[in-house]
Amino acid sequence: MKNSVNPWKIAKKQLDNIAKLLDMDKKVLKKLSQPDNFLEKFISIRMDNGIKKRFKAYRSQYNNTLGSYKGGVRFHPQVNRDEVMALSMWMTWKCSLVNIPFGGGKGGITVNPKKLSSKELEKLARGYVKSFSNFLGEDKDIPAPDVGVSSQIIDWMTKEHIKNGGTKAGFTGKSVSLGGSKGRTQATGRGGYYILERLKQKLNLIPCQTSIIIQGFGNVGYWFAQEAFKKGYKIVGLSDSKGGILSNKFKRLNPAAVLEHKEKTGSVIGFPQTKTISQQQLLEQRVDVLAPAALEGVIHQNNVDKIRAKIIIELANGPVDSSVDYILKSKNIIVIPDILANSGGVIVSYFEWRQNKENKFWTEQKVNQRLKHKIIKSLDDVWNIARERKIDMRTAAYVRAVSRIVKEMQNS
Ligand code: NAD
Repeated sequence: MKNSVNPWKIAKKQLDNIAKLLDMDKKVLKKLSQPDNFLEKFISIRMDNGIKKRFKAYRSQYNNTLGSYKGGVRFHPQVNRDEVMALSMWMTWKCSLVNIPFGGGKGGITVNPKKLSSKELEKLARGYVKSFSNFLGEDKDIPAPDVGVSSQIIDWMTKEHIKNGGTKAGFTGKSVSLGGSKGRTQATGRGGYYILERLKQKLNLIPCQTSIIIQGFGNVGYWFAQEAFKKGYKIVGLSDSKGGILSNKFKRLNPAAVLEHKEKTGSVIGFPQTKTISQQQLLEQRVDVLAPAALEGVIHQNNVDKIRAKIIIELANGPVDSSVDYILKSKNIIVIPDILANSGGVIVSYFEWRQNKENKFWTEQKVNQRLKHKIIKSLDDVWNIARERKIDMRTAAYVRAVSRIVKEMQNS
């Protein structure tokens, strides 16, 4: 999969379009067109072989009109300034859309975490917190996991944060033993599944006849697959960074069995009764639901004509270059935008933050019920705006999210 599109350009263009639609004040647009703070550091760690190595690290604090900056940290070789800024802008809209009292932020380190030992990863995680410690905190900026960052990495970060005088509410996505919320690991994929369930009612989908392809079989992709599988949906194709698989004769794949295979062999490739296909071929299959759950910019000008899914659920951040939204719309493809589709993670992060601050522990059932309620309410709002204004779902989501922030900025 080639990341040929600059996510910051996509994000800026989306904002400009929505500014026109909302007739936004020029000063407000200027403020919303850049992060409040953009921090860059080099983190130096001693590798296991004794040699010192430097890694580039970022934190973008985009906007805190609605509350503390909030957003994940990504460990990936492609992490760069533009990507981090775009992701932090999207976080700002996401928190507003689902009506939680957070602003938007994001961070990352340009690194391939698979090439580091556990000891090296711990040094890097702690180094990240030390580098940005003046800017982080439960009422300032609250990081969480993103691509390549496990709850173990967040635990190291939290411990370092506490060592520097912070509290456990300063990080979310922690393991439960360190104050994490039940259901946080599953939250993003599960939230995406609650969206699918609501679409089932709206579009009369029949689970056993609804075929699904998921690109990316990490945290988000797996839990979305698992929930959908449990309710009888037909997952027929999956992929990870090594490539994709398509089931023979479009037979139903069991995500738990595929995960077991991936854990044994290092990839989904080679799972019995499937054929290996490329990322591109995976995206181009004729299916009911396509759920990109890996990286951004995978559906763009050069492949949009070949997309044949009926519904795209954007579990990843920015998987569709929104300049092709109009083409997808002309093909009657419904796109559930990322700021809605993957908001389950930040919603449960908010629950975790609240539990930490109030020193409470919610049951997983309570977490799931509240997640379901919040995400379905947001979907219904966006759905209704799209119908009333005759606009696509992404534009409707932006109308809802951005106008809430603009209103608050003008009132304060
Ligand atoms: P992850 O690291 O657990 O999994 C990422 C998956 O993508 C892996 O299966 C990996 O093999 C695959 N991948 C990586 N590079 C790829 C490539 N070039 N082609 C195809 N597949 C590739 O990450 P995650 O937490 O599941 O996040 C996935 C997406 O969801 C990201 O866009 C992230 O920003 C977004 N997201 C995550 C959360 C969360 O709570 N984890 C919340 C909101 C949004």
